[in-house]
Amino acid sequence: MQSASLSNNGEAPTGAGRIQRAGSLAEDVYEAIFAQLMSLKIAPGSRITVDNLVKEFDVSHTPIREALGRLEGEGLVLKTHLIGYRAAPQITRRRFDELYEMRLLLEPHGAAKAAATMDEAKLGTLLEAAGVMSRREGKDERLRYSNFARQDAIFHDRIMEYAENELIRETLGFQHTHFHIFRLMYHSRVTEEALDEHEAILAAFGSADPDAAAKAMRAHIEHSRDRLLPAFD
Ligand SMILES: [Zn+2]
Repeated sequence: MQSASLSNNGEAPTGAGRIQRAGSLAEDVYEAIFAQLMSLKIAPGSRITVDNLVKEFDVSHTPIREALGRLEGEGLVLKTHLIGYRAAPQITRRRFDELYEMRLLLEPHGAAKAAATMDEAKLGTLLEAAGVMSRREGKDERLRYSNFARQDAIFHDRIMEYAENELIRETLGFQHTHFHIFRLMYHSRVTEEALDEHEAILAAFGSADPDAAAKAMRAHIEHSRDRLLPAFD
């Protein structure tokens, strides 16, 4: 995923939405719309008009339609025949509770298993993923937030890969739950505090300590839940 480069090219922040050209046009358009959805600039449930995006980004219809199709596959955009596109509604409180119950059942266990088989190469990959998240360069806050959400999904997915149960890994990745969780609230607190919790998980992996890894993962998921709960007030 080359998308992080969009926010890392050191250019001045963009205004309403003109695309910063970094990767391919299709990729940049996708990232820009993804960032607007994740940061709630496009409100959950609201109509998305292709013509408006064409004007806003000053591109043709093709990359916009491609991006919306990809976002539809990720559950962030819904398409209704003859009506068009709209942003997916927020997840319900009930689905939120279900998601966190599932994560608490599966991820601490997965972290313990990953810690038991941790090696230099795996640890390096996880440190790299965590490092990308902590980067502060890039002045577009919305892009930074959406990049963080994507990178956090990759970080957690890698840990489950190292836990070596593909069914659990697929179950957690199903419906791109990370995106829906991060979209509940657009606030720097969501990302800043998670960085410290990731450090604790990485420290447990560094000492290949399954119990500490499970404990750190549990604490991270519980804190993540508590950070996002106010979204339902
Ligand atoms: Zn995380």
